[in-house]
Amino acid sequence: MRIAVIGLGIAGLSICARLALAGHDVSGFDQFEPMHTNGSSHGDTRIMRLTPGEGEIYVKLARRAQEIWRTWEGLAGRPFIEWTGGLMAGPRGSPFVAASQRLSRTPAAIMRGDAIHAMTRGYIAMPYEWDVFRQEDAGVIAADAVRAFLLKQAPRWGAKLHHNARIEAPIDGLVLKINEEARVFDVVIVAAGGWARKLLPEFAGKLAVKRRVVGWFESPNPRMAPVICADNDEGVYGMPAPRGLYKLGLHAIGGATDPDNVRAPDAEDATLLSEQARVLLPTHNPEPVRMTRCLYTVTPDEHFLITPSRIHERILLFSACSGHGFKYAPLYGAIAEDWLNGKETEELTAFGPARRAHVNRLGGEKT
Ligand SMILES: Cc1cc2nc3c(=O)[nH]c(=O)nc-3n(C[C@H](O)[C@H](O)[C@H](O)COP(=O)(O)OP(=O)(O)OC[C@H]3O[C@@H](n4cnc5c(N)ncnc54)[C@H](O)[C@@H]3O)c2cc1C
Repeated sequence: MRIAVIGLGIAGLSICARLALAGHDVSGFDQFEPMHTNGSSHGDTRIMRLTPGEGEIYVKLARRAQEIWRTWEGLAGRPFIEWTGGLMAGPRGSPFVAASQRLSRTPAAIMRGDAIHAMTRGYIAMPYEWDVFRQEDAGVIAADAVRAFLLKQAPRWGAKLHHNARIEAPIDGLVLKINEEARVFDVVIVAAGGWARKLLPEFAGKLAVKRRVVGWFESPNPRMAPVICADNDEGVYGMPAPRGLYKLGLHAIGGATDPDNVRAPDAEDATLLSEQARVLLPTHNPEPVRMTRCLYTVTPDEHFLITPSRIHERILLFSACSGHGFKYAPLYGAIAEDWLNGKETEELTAFGPARRAHVNRLGGEKT
């Protein structure tokens, strides 16, 4: 089957790799060069959680993805995930912290925030009134290394990857215009992140594109520390990053943006991130040493959207909505393959048009 995959972020790359391995004639297209920094997938690190507090279905996805992460690590000859543990936190009574505890296979007690300072030997601090649940099965994904691996591995399995190849938007069928050339496919999978709403305007009302900024902070005593996910008003999250830095982002802060015209990080972003660094990272310089911007593609209920288009039943929108989609990436190819084979799986039902019955909204997504 001739399959076009539009978008070679982490979702499109995973889909290309898996479908090529399954024997399909796969062509992947991206409008930018390999490893570009314009979408949602770039950067040194992402948070991994095997027990995401967003709901049961994500726990299942994370655990299934874990098997493929190990395969990818074997093929790459290097680990992609460093298991640092994680602190799931939030103001007292946080539904996210409660869900993280409930879904955990090794339930422990919820701690008061002020226990964290001693627990991390002074590296991380949290307000007394916060609930905190420690997860052993959380860590950091070497995100850019995974993209680089897939850019090599997908072609080894037979996928043809085309960069600087922009598909003309909107698409209106199985004939795609690529840099002025028309090509016909049997199936089109749209994994275009923040640009999906331009390619398939029928979903524009369901996919909001938001600007987000992350910053890296320096400590005189760098060490490996747990990841943080908090459902405070800002939705602050953090993770250790290369060169002894600690990276912070704000899940809930940042306005709508045009993916083709995203404002660069500025002083206002630095101030917002510094406020969190002052509370959470007592040994760090609260001024970020650098910042970058990234796109979140968000649905109204913040869950993934994986659904056929009304234009043609062989066009699939695959939107691994950006707040927390990296950790499940190895499964995206398998989910696309199930759809191709006409299987009715739990995740296709859960993330398809009638998904609400299957997922719990637990106070917003975390990374
Ligand atoms: C700041 C930030 C922090 C995050 N932290 C975490 C985390 O800690 N843990 C976690 O699990 N997840 C995290 N995520 C989420 C995760 O990174 C995303 O879910 C994931 O990267 C989405 O990948 P994607 O492939 O769907 O989108 P993208 O990476 O944006 O890829 C879409 C691609 O489509 C291409 N494209 C678009 N239109 C066209 C066209 N017309 N023609 C050709 N190509 C086109 C684009 O150029 C782009 O390369 C974070 C996201 C952000 C932004």
